[in-house]
Amino acid sequence: MTLKVGVIGTGMIGQDHIRRLTKVLSGVEVAAVADIARDRAEAAAPEGAEVFDTPEALIASDTVEAVVICSWGPAHEEQLLACIDAGKPVFCEKPMVTSEEAALRVMAAETAFGRRLVQVGFMRRFDADYRRLKAVIDGGTLGAPLIYKSIHRNASVPEGLYTSEMPLNDTLVHDADISRWLLSDEVTGVEVRLPRRSTRGGELRDPHIVLLHCASGAIVDVEISVNIGYGYDIRGEVSCEMGVAALPNRPATVVSDQYGIRQTIPEDWRERFIEAYDQEFREWIVAAGQGTATGPSAWDGYAATLVADAALRAVESGAHEKITMIDKPALYAAA
Ligand code: NAP
Repeated sequence: MTLKVGVIGTGMIGQDHIRRLTKVLSGVEVAAVADIARDRAEAAAPEGAEVFDTPEALIASDTVEAVVICSWGPAHEEQLLACIDAGKPVFCEKPMVTSEEAALRVMAAETAFGRRLVQVGFMRRFDADYRRLKAVIDGGTLGAPLIYKSIHRNASVPEGLYTSEMPLNDTLVHDADISRWLLSDEVTGVEVRLPRRSTRGGELRDPHIVLLHCASGAIVDVEISVNIGYGYDIRGEVSCEMGVAALPNRPATVVSDQYGIRQTIPEDWRERFIEAYDQEFREWIVAAGQGTATGPSAWDGYAATLVADAALRAVESGAHEKITMIDKPALYAAA
């Protein structure tokens, strides 16, 4: 059986997901696309896909069995609620939403529906290296995790993003989610430290150091550098009571020549996490075909949103900003 999918938002990642859904993965067909700019949707539409003028029309279409949301964050809530209302499984790129209230509304709608429909695009959980790292921590031979150091470096960001909003709303959510998942913990408070501003980015507020305080007492130390210049560099190391487990740097061909010995660094997230995105969708297709969702849930989207909100407050206050979560709804107990 082939799952007929509609893709909303045909920008950078929307086009990349359309490519993997049409050229890499099986059991799925992109049957519909929509974007604010119709010409962009038309250009991205695979042969035979219907182009819709609005996300609402795409979600309501009888042809569309499941939805992939790749629009920008502030549009996600309305599109998610429409998918839940239509009872259609939906993959939503991170950030799931951009406010706590919106996250609560999405969880309330899904809980009222009574079955999981939402998977959030935290692709690191599908990366083989992160999965192996988690298996070591869960195996328990190193003892309880005490400190996790997460490094998240992007080569550059588009001009015009000057504040902390993008690094914390769009970037930190990945580190928040992977920390919660790796450590099987919840974040209860956030501090932000602002080192000297990098002169490379003009007025850009970069880098950030974010400390996540976990319920267990473990602390996560996150470096977010969104304009580091040299490439996309993701690292992680967990210090436990009896040892350390680290994410390996991705193996790449080692070139030796007159300039020395070196390996290339991925240009961006598409290259570093290409297999993780493929696996993320492989698992989503199976669950969506059964009318449900597995993987990162709306609860995980909610938790990451709370961390981003607290981090933004911490930038303003300079203080340790506490996080209070609602009781976990039973729907998400296993997630
Ligand atoms: P992008 O290139 O700006 O693409 C977003 C597209 O959605 C644009 O064509 C945009 O049109 C369109 N759009 C915005 N609001 C819409 C709406 N209400 N209805 C329909 N279309 C709408 O951004 P992107 O880099 O692809 O990012 C898209 C989402 O993916 C973001 O939430 C981002 O955080 C996430 N993302 C995730 C990862 C990951 O690693 N998982 C990586 C990159 C991006 P306009 O440009 O005209 O507004």
